[in-house]
Amino acid sequence: MDTCRRAPTRAYALSMDSVDTKSWLRCYRCWSQDLEVQVHYEGIHKIDPVTGERADVVDELQEAVVQCLDCMHDQPHLGFMNGRVEPIEDRWERMVAGTPWVASVTVTVDAEDVETCSGPEAGDALSYAAFGDHGTREFFTHVRFHKHEDDTRITVHLLVELYARSLDEATEVLEDAARGTLTITSLAEESRPPAATSDDRH
Ligand SMILES: [Zn+2]
Repeated sequence: MDTCRRAPTRAYALSMDSVDTKSWLRCYRCWSQDLEVQVHYEGIHKIDPVTGERADVVDELQEAVVQCLDCMHDQPHLGFMNGRVEPIEDRWERMVAGTPWVASVTVTVDAEDVETCSGPEAGDALSYAAFGDHGTREFFTHVRFHKHEDDTRITVHLLVELYARSLDEATEVLEDAARGTLTITSLAEESRPPAATSDDRH
């Protein structure tokens, strides 16, 4: 089984060498190129008094999420700007060429940085307090529990899955993302999910 899952990694490494265009324009998990972007746009515009057309922007807000249609996962290594999908520079190579790493960690943060530690929003709030945007957008995080050390500090115990090319890189990504004191209890490489092939599509 392990041999089967490893094979696509090598095949992909070869294709990276021969095809250097848009290596990043694919799902970081299954390498599918069957992607979709969901764009939410909110804008306030002046109205042109002569034509009645929408004119100058007063205020606008755009949110976009790129998703893989083969494995249905969000693609945090891709952003959507000026009508096209672009790679997020400090993330995409690590996520596309890397493998999943699973870490058991604790992050001790200021209690003030945790918006809420109970109710349905608690998991996201604790993940965000521990790892910022990486915790809510990039990593798969599971908050196992949290502990109030005193009135000012909270220790968050989490399981984290992230993509990296080596043990050192995985450690560095966790260290850079942590917004408090980080302790890594365990860190292990997992098998890559199977690559999407054209045969998978029906
Ligand atoms: Zn995918």
